[in-house]
Amino acid sequence: MDTTTPKDARPKILIVDDNKQNIELLMELFRGEYRVAAAVNATRAMKIALSDSPPDLILTDILMPDIDGYQLCGLLKENPTTKNIPIIFVTAVSEVMDENRGFALGAVDYITKPFHPPMVKARVRLHLNLKRKQELLEQYAFIDALTEIPNRRRFDEVMESEWNRATRSENHLSLIFMDIDHFKKYNDTYGHGRGDECLRKVARAIKGSMRRAGDFVGRYGGEEFAVVLPYVNYDEAMLLAERIQKNVGELAIRHDASDAADHVSLSLGVATAIPRRETPSSTLLEAADKMLYQAKNTGRNTIRGIDLG
Ligand code: GH3
Ligand code: MG
Ligand code: MG
Repeated sequence: MDTTTPKDARPKILIVDDNKQNIELLMELFRGEYRVAAAVNATRAMKIALSDSPPDLILTDILMPDIDGYQLCGLLKENPTTKNIPIIFVTAVSEVMDENRGFALGAVDYITKPFHPPMVKARVRLHLNLKRKQELLEQYAFIDALTEIPNRRRFDEVMESEWNRATRSENHLSLIFMDIDHFKKYNDTYGHGRGDECLRKVARAIKGSMRRAGDFVGRYGGEEFAVVLPYVNYDEAMLLAERIQKNVGELAIRHDASDAADHVSLSLGVATAIPRRETPSSTLLEAADKMLYQAKNTGRNTIRGIDLG
């Protein structure tokens, strides 16, 4: 049972209960305000939780045949993709319940039957709000405050997971490292405020150069940026590097103190590999870094690349 329609942005609630009447009761309560899915056992619940459209919150009965609510809670919490879904236990007051066990397993709340509908709704709303705030906080931890693009921490994560994915699928992975030329002189000439403004514009220009949804742009450090390109071969990565260089050049941010160009420019290092199991992701990072270093040593405002095969 699933009342989900495509593009429906309402939070999704999953109700797990072996008693269909109980499911109906709760579904009735939440219909309209939320998308509601239901499962009559824990196995079905896990399937929905692991699907492409996972619930934002789970309400589960405790007493169920085969896998009970506590065990379901344990399964959800030990799986990285489902561990952050808040779980509320639903129990009859007549049932002997072990609240400590539930909280220890990571449940956020208990609701007792018979329901007092406004209370059930308020609790669900509260836990959905908490979850949304938590997610916002987590997102901010991965965003660079100045440029509003992902930060180094996020880059490290993306790099690692894309490297692993490319290893499994035996596909190309390309990496571009970029560093603004003579940026210290830019700050010295125009001031730190203009420097910050320049970083924001360059970040936007790099981001605007991307073509695919899977392309990742992050701020690697002070005036350094990195682009991770899954499924992109060496020639395609070099073309993209050229487009970035062109787009940053076309910002035409005047830089009189630079001997690389009359405007703010980048040096770019490109590296491509088809990752192998025995090689660490640092191989690609080191190669791109080396190429960037070469670009710096051959006049700046230029691109150097290597195809590691
Ligand atoms: P090169 O062409 O060799 O890269 O020279 P560079 O001057 O760009 O490199 P260097 O590493 O010597 O200087 C980087 C400068 O970037 C120094 C630092 O003050 C500046 N910078 C780093 N982060 C920020 C920032 O957030 N805002 C501003 N305005 N400047 C920053
Ligand atoms: Mg630098
Ligand atoms: Mg620099």
